[in-house]
Amino acid sequence: MASSNVRVRFPPSPTGDPHVGNIRTAIYNWLFARHHGGAFVIRIEDTDRARMVEGSTEVLLESLRWLGVDWDEGPDVGGPHSPYVQSQRLDLYREHAEMLLDSGRAYRCLCSTQRLAEVRQEQARLKRPSGYDRRCRDLGDAAGRDGDAVPVVRFRMPMEGETAVDDLVRGRVSFDNRLVDDFVMLKSDGFPTYHLANVVDDHHMGISHVMRAEEWLSSVPRHLQLYAAFGWEPPRFAHLPIVLAPDRSKLGKRHGATSVSEYREMGYLPEALLNFLTLLGWSLDDRTEIFSHDDLKRHFTIERVGKSGAVFDASKLEWMNGSYIRESTPEHLVESMLDFWRRYPPAEIPVLPDAARLLKVVPLIQVRIKTLRDAAPLIAFLFRDGVECDAADLVQRGMDAEGTRSALEAAHAGLAELSPFDCETIEGLLRSMARHLNVKAGQLFGSLRVATTGQKVAPPLFESIEVLGRERTLASIRHAIGQLETPSGRG
Ligand code: GLU
Repeated sequence: MASSNVRVRFPPSPTGDPHVGNIRTAIYNWLFARHHGGAFVIRIEDTDRARMVEGSTEVLLESLRWLGVDWDEGPDVGGPHSPYVQSQRLDLYREHAEMLLDSGRAYRCLCSTQRLAEVRQEQARLKRPSGYDRRCRDLGDAAGRDGDAVPVVRFRMPMEGETAVDDLVRGRVSFDNRLVDDFVMLKSDGFPTYHLANVVDDHHMGISHVMRAEEWLSSVPRHLQLYAAFGWEPPRFAHLPIVLAPDRSKLGKRHGATSVSEYREMGYLPEALLNFLTLLGWSLDDRTEIFSHDDLKRHFTIERVGKSGAVFDASKLEWMNGSYIRESTPEHLVESMLDFWRRYPPAEIPVLPDAARLLKVVPLIQVRIKTLRDAAPLIAFLFRDGVECDAADLVQRGMDAEGTRSALEAAHAGLAELSPFDCETIEGLLRSMARHLNVKAGQLFGSLRVATTGQKVAPPLFESIEVLGRERTLASIRHAIGQLETPSGRG
């Protein structure tokens, strides 16, 4: 339950897989609400029917849940201002459009799309600012009664003066009212535009702070004028810095993955991604990079949000993910890995291991992987029956097939008798065996690595052999010896 008057919202439009910049905005609102003990509201702004993409709301809510973001009111959890989906609140917007028509702050307009296009063309030709030329502004009711055509409702912007905002990030910003046209509030299909629905809902939902991307700054004069026309107190505004690619252009598809779902699929941990996204435009100081959720909630304030664009550096994200993986408890990492594999089954491991077995393996690779996706190729040999290896890979540089075969025979015999079968004893045995056989330790270990793992890159050998267990290790070595006995193995 909220214990302060802070109420913030995240009002996405369901137009596709949400961009990381958009999710960063959601995270800031969430952290701000949690920092102040306020409420975080999610509202779906689906009034632009042409841009809607089926299923986006679910993807969005799922991305937030996965990141560990929770909300107090929203389309799925309800709340005192239900419904939290704009297409289910159309009557409210129509009533408000009527209110402004009655008070003379809005008017009906029947200009056709064709006429508006001509006006735009003419403005472009004369190099004038584009916008509605206000033809219907003073026609009175006449504009609303033209055959069967349904008029739109436009807002009557003041034609002089300035509208100014004290933005919590950008400071004071003023707009010349003459440059803001009489925008449409209600379309002819009866749906409100973003401006009307957004302002009406922010007011009715008691929103105290509007924190959103910088691209919405230009909407502020419209919104403030709407608040004034309704006689409402506006919320405080904070416009967040844009998220940029390393080349300082707006981060887009051509720069790589741009949605949370893509990063999830690439094997990023939610806690690392949330930490990384929070640092896109906010910092505590110029040193601290790793923050738990609790740290972020404790420290997050708008004062520490920067003005300039924040560069999305994918290599930093990868570093941060690797750091979260290394610092994670093995138990947590096992849980994350199994979650990941259940969602994106790894081709290398057809039957997922149970948590207890994976717990033995995870410490072997924890320092070697940067993403969860790196894990399966490294450890698949532990979860497969029988390992396939290539005779050519078994024979190490400076050795021949015969020497390799007798070294593997010796290792087989030694490991068959070894007790206890743990990594230190295995290491001791194999090192003295190499000396005894007069081969380099690296040569013996290399052949054994290929024999037991079937891979050239694998976790540390002795630990791997311990986890693999005596029986499977011996079977793999026996199989490898067989490979060397085939004609192709003689070399
Ligand atoms: N529906 C808008 C969006 O898609 C919301 C902008 C705002 O926060 O006012 O981002």
